[in-house]
Amino acid sequence: MPKLITQVGCPYCGSSCDDIEVLVSDDGRKVLEVHNACIIGNNLFHHANDSTRPMLPRRRQPDGTMKEISFEEAVDYTAKTLLAAKKPLIYGFGSTNCEGMSAVGRVAEKSGAILDNCASICHGPSFLAIFDNGYPSCTLGEVKNRADCVVFWGCNPMHAHPRHTSRYSIFPRGFFTGKGQMARTIISIDPRETDTAKLADIHYMLDQGHDYELFDAFRTVLRGHDIPDMVAGCKKEDILKGAEAMKKARFVMIFFGMGCTHTDGRNHNIDIAISLTRDLNTHTKASIMAMRGHYNIAGPGQVWSWQFGFPYCIDLSKGTHAHMNPGETSSIDLAMRDEIDCFVNVGTDAGAHWPIDAVRHVKKHPFITIDPNFCMASEIADLHIPVRIAGVDEGGVVYRMDNVPIQFKAVLKGLSGVPSDEELFDMIYERMCVLTQ
Ligand code: SF4
Repeated sequence: MPKLITQVGCPYCGSSCDDIEVLVSDDGRKVLEVHNACIIGNNLFHHANDSTRPMLPRRRQPDGTMKEISFEEAVDYTAKTLLAAKKPLIYGFGSTNCEGMSAVGRVAEKSGAILDNCASICHGPSFLAIFDNGYPSCTLGEVKNRADCVVFWGCNPMHAHPRHTSRYSIFPRGFFTGKGQMARTIISIDPRETDTAKLADIHYMLDQGHDYELFDAFRTVLRGHDIPDMVAGCKKEDILKGAEAMKKARFVMIFFGMGCTHTDGRNHNIDIAISLTRDLNTHTKASIMAMRGHYNIAGPGQVWSWQFGFPYCIDLSKGTHAHMNPGETSSIDLAMRDEIDCFVNVGTDAGAHWPIDAVRHVKKHPFITIDPNFCMASEIADLHIPVRIAGVDEGGVVYRMDNVPIQFKAVLKGLSGVPSDEELFDMIYERMCVLTQ
């Protein structure tokens, strides 16, 4: 009899939906149906059925081809390569569980590595702003139950976090928001007319890269001062209208994304967004949240802050203490300066998502990919080690975009002999200990 598993977590985006239902075959090896997930989540679970998923590590041969090897050989190669490297970089961790993120800590310490995660190329600027200016945030439950004015600044959840608007931010009827969307004012700030902007009551189609000026204009108005007739391509009367809508609301929620962190100003766009949130709190209640990308990209920030005191860009090469200085110890900067002599890609795809020059630099040295599937990073690697898929055939703890921890379930039996990230890092650590005895 097929079995329906309920309250399953979706291991894709930062919404980390935990109301998914998955119908699995009676032998627990195949996903038959997926309920409640968006199309991305749905595909992710069905993709786990792929019969071509790798079950053994593959090592590049002198002629350039890849040849299957045993897990013991792969662990031995990884341990030796990390120990031989002067400054290895272990990067990724957007898509694995906290158990894997914790286990890699010992490996990184023992090899004197730089430990970094995808925040480095995503919401890293938000961390810098938070260090400077604090983080007046809340949970997504508070948004659902209280927010009657929701601002999407430089983010497009209809495409990037597809169920965000129906679970938390626009449509749900909460405790104090019983009329759902009808009772919320939605503001979109985006140079494009996105599908999120189409849902908005007010859309500011600002000039790209001028977010700081527009934030500044809102702050100026909220503090009772005058602004020019046009700011960042937006009319003064529209800015006054938006500021008034925010002031009148009972609870303003600002969500921000890559439109702020990847454009001119970067962390300063977030600095001023946080300052705007503070200003709004003199008129009403307001809160702000980063639209974290992967389902557990908040995880390394939590786990490594607890282990090392820093959320990302952690330099353990000194041996005695951890050091963090994005710009100096961030993955792309290290790669571009050619300071890295071994690269380990875990639960991400640097091959696809890094600038090509940075990939070329790290490709000069041993390149190891730890990933359940074939991807760009696995195809250019010297060694590809498959692991179980967190949230599909491996359970574990994940942190949602609002830093709420959620226990994810395994819905399928794992591929025989394929370890989890945690098991793999424990094996690598043990091998390193044997080699250095
Ligand atoms: S919104 Fe995100 S977490 Fe939810 S089902 Fe879709 S991809 Fe998965």
